[in-house]
Amino acid sequence: MRSIPVSEPDLCGNEKKYVDDCLDSGWISSHGEYVGRFEQEFARKIGVKHAVSVMNGTAALHLVLLGLGVKPGDEIILPTLTFVSSANSVLFDGGVPVFVDSEEETWNMDVSLVEKGITEKTCGVMAVHLYGHPVDMDPLREICNKHGLYLIEDAAEAVGSKYKGRNVGTLADAAAFSFYGNKTITTGEGGMVTTDDDDLASRMRIIKNQGKSPGHPFWHEILGYNYRLTNVQAAIGLGQLENLDKFVKKKREIAGKYREYIDADGIIHSPEADYAFNSYWMSSIVIDGISVETRDNVMRSLADKGIDTRSFFYPMHALPFFHEYSRDKKFTIAERVSQAGINLPSSTKLSDDDIRYVSENVNKLMNDIRR
Ligand SMILES: *Cc1c(COP(=O)(O)O)cnc(C)c1O
Repeated sequence: MRSIPVSEPDLCGNEKKYVDDCLDSGWISSHGEYVGRFEQEFARKIGVKHAVSVMNGTAALHLVLLGLGVKPGDEIILPTLTFVSSANSVLFDGGVPVFVDSEEETWNMDVSLVEKGITEKTCGVMAVHLYGHPVDMDPLREICNKHGLYLIEDAAEAVGSKYKGRNVGTLADAAAFSFYGNKTITTGEGGMVTTDDDDLASRMRIIKNQGKSPGHPFWHEILGYNYRLTNVQAAIGLGQLENLDKFVKKKREIAGKYREYIDADGIIHSPEADYAFNSYWMSSIVIDGISVETRDNVMRSLADKGIDTRSFFYPMHALPFFHEYSRDKKFTIAERVSQAGINLPSSTKLSDDDIRYVSENVNKLMNDIRR
């Protein structure tokens, strides 16, 4: 039987060559030339002054918040429909997540709801580019400027995406990327922060390296962490980065094919707003109006055909340890999208035949549901 994974690393470039180089030279810790090369190439590719590598995307988010100086009680506004790391990173140092609902069109945070969430304790807004679709950043920037708030991008799912022609990762005070195994480019585990702010970049470099003063051995000026990426991971990352454009092109083709081949009624495909260039980390469908049980049955039936899928994230306000932060608000759209959403196989290794096979099975199941 066929077996089509929802995602799979595509190590088709120079990854092996660069890793062999690390092994041959013995440079396998966070020292070694690939760390710097990966950071420089990443900064160049995104179009920012600084790229600071870290050991994973969660650490990248935490490092941004540490660098910006988020204190206990500070409120950060972010979407409820996101991966748990976005919200966890706010809690790490006693910050308070303030969740907002999604918008219908893009499933991203509804920017028009952000201003209502602002209090005297608000210090920033975290925009999450869900499944690769960029958030509508211009109005968000305006709100942040007006109220003196930091703007942060959680770009973990959106490397290669653009907003009005500008790269994700350049649209805020700082942005966090993830290179986890299922992300568009991967280092196994890994992450990166991008920023144009010189002071923030140097502060983050100190914090991620045990709070160590540059050029002064064993003198630790501030509380720091060991959030470093290794040379071996950076070597893989450099190889991956060289193929980023190719991967994004392929992911856009996959999304286009699903849109063409899955033509059953009631299916909403991954969005792409007028202002967006979506890198389609995941090609997704939302089956309009179905219950979570029906959605899970669809996923099980697809699994029976060898088709691996993922449900959408639970909205954060639904998780028990975030209950106290949801302030009796309604998150109607996030809940509806979350319970009816499925991520389809989205690996760059998919063949046209694979995509047709998945699509045929989805169409068939949809007919069964509607009957
Ligand atoms: C993957 C992801 C992260 C965290 O990345 P890790 O590298 O797994 O720590 C953060 N935010 C979002 C939205 C993600 O999808």
